Amino acid sequence: MTIEKEALSDVGAGVCCIIPPYVLDHLVQSSDARIRQIAVDAIANASAVRAVRATLAMMPAFAAVPSPAAKRHRLIYDAKNGGFNELPGHLIRSEGDPKTEDIAENEAYNYAGSTYNFYKSVFARNSLDDHGMTMISSVHLGRRLNNAFWTGEQMCYGDGDGRIFIRFTKSVDVVGHELTHGVISHTCNLVYSNEPGALNEHFADVFGSLVKQWRKRQTAKRADWLIGGDIMGPDTTAKSLRTFKAEKAYENDPLLGTDPQPKHLSNKYNGSGDNGGVHINSGIPNHAFYLAAMEIGGKAWEKSGQIWYKTMLKLTSTSQFNDMVVTSTESAATLYGNNSREHKAVTKAWKSVGF
Ligand SMILES: [Zn+2]
Repeated sequence: MTIEKEALSDVGAGVCCIIPPYVLDHLVQSSDARIRQIAVDAIANASAVRAVRATLAMMPAFAAVPSPAAKRHRLIYDAKNGGFNELPGHLIRSEGDPKTEDIAENEAYNYAGSTYNFYKSVFARNSLDDHGMTMISSVHLGRRLNNAFWTGEQMCYGDGDGRIFIRFTKSVDVVGHELTHGVISHTCNLVYSNEPGALNEHFADVFGSLVKQWRKRQTAKRADWLIGGDIMGPDTTAKSLRTFKAEKAYENDPLLGTDPQPKHLSNKYNGSGDNGGVHINSGIPNHAFYLAAMEIGGKAWEKSGQIWYKTMLKLTSTSQFNDMVVTSTESAATLYGNNSREHKAVTKAWKSVGF
């Protein structure tokens, strides 16, 4: 099997998948043939989903399936290990149906519900498009697939290879992250490359983490601030995919290498891999959000989350990091007052990461 490293770094870009291309690139280099094959399958799925997503990103309203009563409406499908072209698969459970025997089906249903309830109760937002669109999820996509995707229309989850990753429905922050890509596509619709793409990934991580914190009723201080902490398998030392804290999520892991996310502007990645570093440079605003939330204190969705939500509604598809800094600082002043504790905390947080 010959795979061009250069080609790989581009495959998977433009897809809102939870596993970044740099992780799959690492796994393709593994000395274990089975891990290599599973990584190649994950990359093939990512490129199939990318084509569809690129089209839907241009017209998100067409992708929104209305719900019967314009309120919470979940549909769970089983892809039965079929590929991307067979999506969504077999309808297993509709809104209000009893739980099934399948843990992934129940997690996809429950965590999509938590994400809906979070947006409704914290931001008075009615589903991803704010008009009650149906939340569609397919589980058991592919065989041992190491990824989860937002296609522009629906969520889909792989089962993981059982070694590096386990089933992708297990982390509520992963589910919240992917569904937030849907919210983004119906609001500022940030383009998925370079700084706007890193901001897209950033908002998905912020609200993914907040869904988990809100579900657990955790304060900022008690939260783990990890993304994907529950999907890591037994063969990796990584405790998560990403962390909002200053530390690295993993270092010198035999399978995953070292977490490449910078936490300061001076270490920003300027290469073309990962679509201009969308999953890499998101580490900079992520850390700023964490610092602001810790400084403000209490539960992060109550104030920091409100500031960030208002900012997301104000940004445009081509917003850069500087726009993010200016708009979030202004939003803090508008919501809580000029020179308020919240305003000062946001200003200080951006300064700490180099702005
Ligand atoms: Zn993402």
